[in-house]
This record gives sequence, C-alpha cells and structure tokens, in this order.
Amino acid sequence: MRRRNLLIAGGLIGAAAAALGMRGAAVAAVDRSLNRFALDRDAPQPGAADTALHNALFIADLHADCLKWDRDLLAWSDYGHADLPRLHAGNTALQVFAMVTHSPVNLPWRDCLRAEDPNHAAWLAAVQGRPVRSTRGRAFYQMDLFWEAVQRSETYVGPDLRAVLNASELLALIEARAAGEAVIGGMLGLEGGHWVGQYDPSPGVVAAEISALFERGLRVFAPVHRFDNPLGGSSEGCRRYGLTPAGRTALQAAEDYGMVIDLAHGSEETIRDAAALLREPFVVSHTGVRAVCEGICRPDRNLSDDSLRALLDSGGIVGVGYWAHAVGEGVDNIPRVMNHVMEMADRRGLVANEHVALGSDFDGSVATQIAANELSVLTATLRRAGFDDGTIARIMGRNVCRLFAHRLPGGSATMVERVERALGNGFV
Ligand SMILES: [Zn+2]
Repeated sequence: MRRRNLLIAGGLIGAAAAALGMRGAAVAAVDRSLNRFALDRDAPQPGAADTALHNALFIADLHADCLKWDRDLLAWSDYGHADLPRLHAGNTALQVFAMVTHSPVNLPWRDCLRAEDPNHAAWLAAVQGRPVRSTRGRAFYQMDLFWEAVQRSETYVGPDLRAVLNASELLALIEARAAGEAVIGGMLGLEGGHWVGQYDPSPGVVAAEISALFERGLRVFAPVHRFDNPLGGSSEGCRRYGLTPAGRTALQAAEDYGMVIDLAHGSEETIRDAAALLREPFVVSHTGVRAVCEGICRPDRNLSDDSLRALLDSGGIVGVGYWAHAVGEGVDNIPRVMNHVMEMADRRGLVANEHVALGSDFDGSVATQIAANELSVLTATLRRAGFDDGTIARIMGRNVCRLFAHRLPGGSATMVERVERALGNGFV
C-alpha cells in the first residue's frame, strides 16, 4: 500500500514537472515568435572607427519590456531581445524597464483595440504563474522581479544592475561607468495605468495609487497603452478621447513626485491635453513618426506632426524605435525618422539634436532590426547617415541624461550641469 502511494505521488510529481516543462516550452515558443530579430541585410558592418566611437558613448534606452517574460534578466538568453549580459555587450549604460499589464490582440475584423478583447498579457501571466486577475498585481509583480534582479546581480557573475531612483544616483552611475565599472542602471517604467481610477476616480484615490507606484520605484509613467483606459485615450483605441479627470490627477501627481511622463501610445487628444497640463518636458519613449514612415508602418502607432510639435514645445524627447512598424523596413530609416524630428525642432528655434533618443522596445512583441548585443550597428548606421559624433552622443544617451537630471527627484539645473560635466570626462 505504501509502495502504491509512493508510485502515485511520484506519478503526480512527474506529471506536474512535465506540465511545468510544457508550460515553460510554450512561453519560450511565444517569446521566440513575438520577439523576433530581423536584421536588415544591408545594415552596415561596424568598422574600427564605428566601434571606437560606440565604446566611448554613454548609452541610454527609454523602453524595453524584458520584465514581461519568464527569462532571467541576469543570464544571456538565445531568444528574445535583451537581458543584462546582452545590454552590456552592446554597451548600454541605462535602461528603462517598462511593465506591460494588459495587451489586447489585434482582431482582423476590427481597426481598433478594446480592453475587453482577448488579452495576451493576461494569458501570458496565467501560463507564467503570475497574477491573472489584476493589472495592478501584474505591475507590482514585475517591479518585484526588477528589485530581485538588482539584489541578485551583486553576487551574480556579470554586470551589476543598479536602480536609478533620483538625479544623484544617475550622476553616480555615470561616474561609475567612467571609472570602468561593469554596472548598468535600471529604471522602472509603467506602460498603462489601467487600474488607476478604474473603480474610484476620486483625486485622493488616484493620487494614492501614484504614490504607491512611486514608493516601489516607478520613475517613468505612461498613462495609456494600446486601448482607451480610465486615464486617457490611446492612439489605437476605439474612441481615442483625451485625458480624463482621473488622468489629469494622475499626471499631475506623477509630475509632482519627479516622475518622467511618457505619452507613448497616447491618442492625439491625450497628448494635446497633457501638453497643456504639464509644466515639465515629457517624452514619447518608443515610437516612429507618421510623416516619414511608409509601407509597413502602422500610422496610428506613430507620432503625428501635431503631437511632435507639442512634445518639442515642452522641451521633451522622442525615443525612436528600431522595429519596422515604427520606422519602416531597413535600418537606414532610423536616421531618416531622427532627421525629421531634428528638422521640426530646428524650425521651432530649438537646438535640433537635443530632442532625439533611443526607444528600442526590446522584448515588446516587435521584430527589431538592431540587436541589443550588437548596438554598434546603430552607431555605424548613424555615422553612415552623416551624423557627427556630438549628435550621435546626444541621441545615444546624453539627451536622456540631461532630461532625467532635470526631472528626477533631486533634479535641478545644477544637476544637469554636473551630469554634463561627468559625461564630458569619460565619454564622447
Ligand atoms: Zn509600447
């Protein structure tokens, strides 16, 4: 009898292990198919001069969705786009890790996305054993993953992951990198605050949610993602309204805390409303621009010139992505998109190259045309397009550092100067 029980227990454990293995394999298969890498065959092979410049840069990226997937952030994976070792190999110094919590799938018979459509993020959460019912739960789960990786990286072989929560920590990161330390800065971003104001939009409740996110380390706040939510309309939503009263409260609270406001995925009205409301520069962390994207591009997903003007007038930054829906097929389209932003900035009397940055959208269910570990291809592409070293340094990281040194807690004009000086000492 005992032997039979043992056999049954053994069988159950075996079945559970097989189910877990299958679950892991299913997640890996989805990860592989959604986060493809499609290098443009005409992409330049970085030469010695490209590599020398690339290695002398402080590189910052405004958006990656690595925390959505059950891969170890600290270990090199042969699928998906990015992890700490691959970011390190590509010389990335500062990465914003965003949390995706609700992602409706595109239904072929509809030209917009609704919250109630089948939700890919919930399915993924279920098979990965993460919180299924609550978008808030999924966001906090991913923040826990980040903090766990920060802690574990101290003893793990490979580069350290260090959280950047304020302007002084940004300065310390730049100084550590200049001194040759193998350390990568990580910042937490949210891609859609869907639960904020969902059941109770009263200002006190909304502000308390923003406070909870800030306390857990959130520093880049994007109110909306790919569907209209209680904070505002999305560029791919069915109604595409502007900021709601709860959205206004949330953005003002986030700005007061020293978070960077990210209007990626915002509808034109949301961006217009936010531009009128905010006192500080905002970013659109990962995008293309509608005016110079042809063919495969998804217009709704990319910035209109009106939205781009609103962003530039705030003194903000556009993070340009590398995937074909944002910029078009072929890496030479990346500098084309950047040039459009720079021309628009120039026409508005701004310093042209101060408003462009990188927004890879690594692991964001896109087919990226530049690999995290081979980011020098991008430096080579920008050089081939005729960009000078100073402009490349601004696009690849300086612009982000300046804005963060101004916006993050403890930020000021003095911190911007100190960060600029630190960047001048060890980097191009
Ligand atoms: Zn996105």
